[in-house]
Amino acid sequence: MTTNKSKEDSEKDLKSLRKIRNTTSRATVKKLENIIYKKFKVLDHGFVRLIDYMGDDSSIVQAARVSYGKGTKKINEDKSLINYLLSHRHSTPFEMNEIKLHVKLPIFVARQWIRHRTANVNEYSARYSILEKEFYIPELKHMQTQSSVNNQGRGEKIDKENALEKRHIIKKHSESSFEKYSYLLNENLVGETLDLNNIGLARELARMTLPLNAYTQWYWKIDLHNLMHFLSLRFDQHAQYEIRVYADVILEIMKKWVPFTYEAFLKFRLDGFSLSSVGLEYLKSILKNKKFDTKRISKRELNEINSKFDL
Ligand SMILES: Cc1cc2nc3c(=O)[nH]c(=O)nc-3n(C[C@H](O)[C@H](O)[C@H](O)COP(=O)(O)OP(=O)(O)OC[C@H]3O[C@@H](n4cnc5c(N)ncnc54)[C@H](O)[C@@H]3O)c2cc1C
Repeated sequence: MTTNKSKEDSEKDLKSLRKIRNTTSRATVKKLENIIYKKFKVLDHGFVRLIDYMGDDSSIVQAARVSYGKGTKKINEDKSLINYLLSHRHSTPFEMNEIKLHVKLPIFVARQWIRHRTANVNEYSARYSILEKEFYIPELKHMQTQSSVNNQGRGEKIDKENALEKRHIIKKHSESSFEKYSYLLNENLVGETLDLNNIGLARELARMTLPLNAYTQWYWKIDLHNLMHFLSLRFDQHAQYEIRVYADVILEIMKKWVPFTYEAFLKFRLDGFSLSSVGLEYLKSILKNKKFDTKRISKRELNEINSKFDL
């Protein structure tokens, strides 16, 4: 069961929470301690908030070295071990570290996010609580046409007049959905009856009128290995802008949390590039100035290689 507590958390409560100091012999990361409970704003009403974490870069190294019976060595050796583990897909040492986030996000983003099954999730219950009248409205610059080259993406920016008109429709539709929600519930956020002559419907039924751009919230806990998998898919240019902005904030938190792993992740995953065997042959043929039948390689991979290597 989820309660209304998160909504009652005022900034004052958060400030006093952040003042609490506990002593521990466990690994802590100063840069994360400095941002714990702080809300990082995402989109118009969303946020990411660090709730808890376990481990640091040295915990990964320690876990990896169990088999040798040795602990942390010099910084350079730790760094190169992390590089080695990441580049050779030795994933379990990264699974030893965990992070817990509080995220507020539009429902259509949550639907993409929840596909990552390797996290633990507890979502705000709209059966138990009433959702605030908050919905995502894209900024004008993000009002774009359907892409003509990628069925799953956006194309050109729409001219201002058209963008304003279309955005107005989204806003009106969202407001009208929330009005219906409120009418069906017949109660306000604190549970007071709105109209004594109206019979309120159960929250679990009234919510059916809510639009996909309404905001939901959850606690999301994941280990570092699976977090990197999530980030490699959702920080990618193929991911939808509205989830990418969340991945962007989480990547910054990761940078503070495990800087060596972050560096290796950028080097071997985000900024790295993998090729199919045919892609490799294509690249070899270019280096050796030999002919290559481009019908053998998929158009998508060909375009990706050409753009990566400025060919
Ligand atoms: C750009 C983009 C477009 C997408 N488009 C679509 C779409 O059109 N339709 C759609 O339905 N989805 C779509 N998805 C979702 C996608 O197919 C994955 O479901 C999602 O990215 C989660 O990935 P995952 O399963 O690897 O992650 P996780 O669920 O976090 O799993 C991580 C890894 O754990 C392993 N694993 C987890 N669970 C199992 C299991 N039960 N069995 C075996 N191995 C498991 C796998 O190795 C997996 O890669 C899209 C995703 C992206 C990034």
